[in-house]
Amino acid sequence: MTGKYFAEPFKIKMVEPIKILTREERIRKIQEAHYNVFGLAAEDCYIDLLTDSGTGAMSSHQWSGIMLGDESYSGSSSYFKLLESAKDIFGYAYIQPVHQGRAAEKVVMPILLGKGKVSISNMHFDTTRAHVEIAGARAVDCVVEVARDTTAYDPFKGNMDVRKLRELIVQYGPENVGVIIMTVTNNSAGGQPVSMENLRETAVVAKEYEIPLLIDAARFAENCHFIKEREDGYQKKSIKEIARELFSYGDLFTMSSKKDAIVNIGGLIGVKKDEAFFEKVKANTIPFEGFLSYGGLAGRDLEALAIGLQEGVDEDYLKYRVGQLEYLSEKLLEAGIPHQTPVGGHAVFLDAKKFLPHIPYHEFPAQALAVELYIEAGIRGCDIGSYMMGNDPDTGEQLESEFEFTRLAIPRRVYTQSHLDVIVEALKEIWNRRESLKGYRITWEPPILRHFTAKLEPITE
Ligand SMILES: *Cc1c(COP(=O)(O)O)cnc(C)c1O
Repeated sequence: MTGKYFAEPFKIKMVEPIKILTREERIRKIQEAHYNVFGLAAEDCYIDLLTDSGTGAMSSHQWSGIMLGDESYSGSSSYFKLLESAKDIFGYAYIQPVHQGRAAEKVVMPILLGKGKVSISNMHFDTTRAHVEIAGARAVDCVVEVARDTTAYDPFKGNMDVRKLRELIVQYGPENVGVIIMTVTNNSAGGQPVSMENLRETAVVAKEYEIPLLIDAARFAENCHFIKEREDGYQKKSIKEIARELFSYGDLFTMSSKKDAIVNIGGLIGVKKDEAFFEKVKANTIPFEGFLSYGGLAGRDLEALAIGLQEGVDEDYLKYRVGQLEYLSEKLLEAGIPHQTPVGGHAVFLDAKKFLPHIPYHEFPAQALAVELYIEAGIRGCDIGSYMMGNDPDTGEQLESEFEFTRLAIPRRVYTQSHLDVIVEALKEIWNRRESLKGYRITWEPPILRHFTAKLEPITE
């Protein structure tokens, strides 16, 4: 294996047929969905890049684990297998399974936060922000400035701005900062990694002010891969060694295992050593998620998760996984198609502001590009821009997002390089006629989280 890119380190045992509709059929389907990609049936999508969450393909080992699942209410063997696997990777004393990432947040945030408290993060993911706010607290983002420039190269665009973090702690008062959250990789900044050095510096600040440091670990393995590739001193370390060091800087973690643990459902909470804190985690888990030894999951899910955690840190798998993103990004760069670079670990974020400069933010360029990509080739991505952002809650006016991204999230172990080539070809076609694309207007919208259900129409005049 000497090539720059790494072919799939697996062969295919079972296939799921997908169909390609004609262009006319796609035009009709997207019209019937009111130009909202969330309204499309999955089977009408040829390549579905809506999310990388829970959409991965399980291995033959995981599927055989499904058959071994122990469905006992208490103390199942699958539970103990999961604890063993998780402790091996994270090195934490206490592990609690839950049904997904936001369930972990629901359990943990009310313990750390309350009215008048603040959570500071390199960037809160949407559900994390929601649970901080539900707990009565305020979520403040503190990412490095370079994350905002889509063309500037920086190896760790997901980092915390540590100087600003200190200023914010002083500004709010250390006693009011209930938690510092490090999201790895930084999802909202485009799946950008955080360096070990940055995590170490953040941990020093947390310790100095006695504030717990929580790692939001959804894509920890992809982050460890980037550290191995890009940070001095880590080239010879294994992903597991890097992960052990990464988690050693945190006091606790929450994790959606629908991403790097390659399962379709599941989540985890880890507590490094604070037994009293873990008692509180247990007390919240039972009413919210069920008894401790299953945490909202079936025994077979615990079994698949125990195996998936280990597969997710496999070095060949990660080389292939992140290599797919790098391949896609390189082909798009060759064609001059603007996107967030360097590419992150799980998705390509097309820069629709640069792709469609003639469409203003209030006519939703990233949504226009997502719709066009579906019409062109049956590829489903989604808007992460002004369309998703919605209206100012006070004035009702459309907000202008800093970015207009069309996100193409790549599911794990699902699509081949040929599928990636189709994506590139389709985007090139659209790029060549980009000036002919039109914006959209909303004809109906709900008051909150409108992007899932709003109805749109093309602006034709
Ligand atoms: C997906 C995700 C979550 C929430 O997890 P769910 O499993 O979707 O509930 C939290 N944080 C980050 C960084 C995520 O990517």
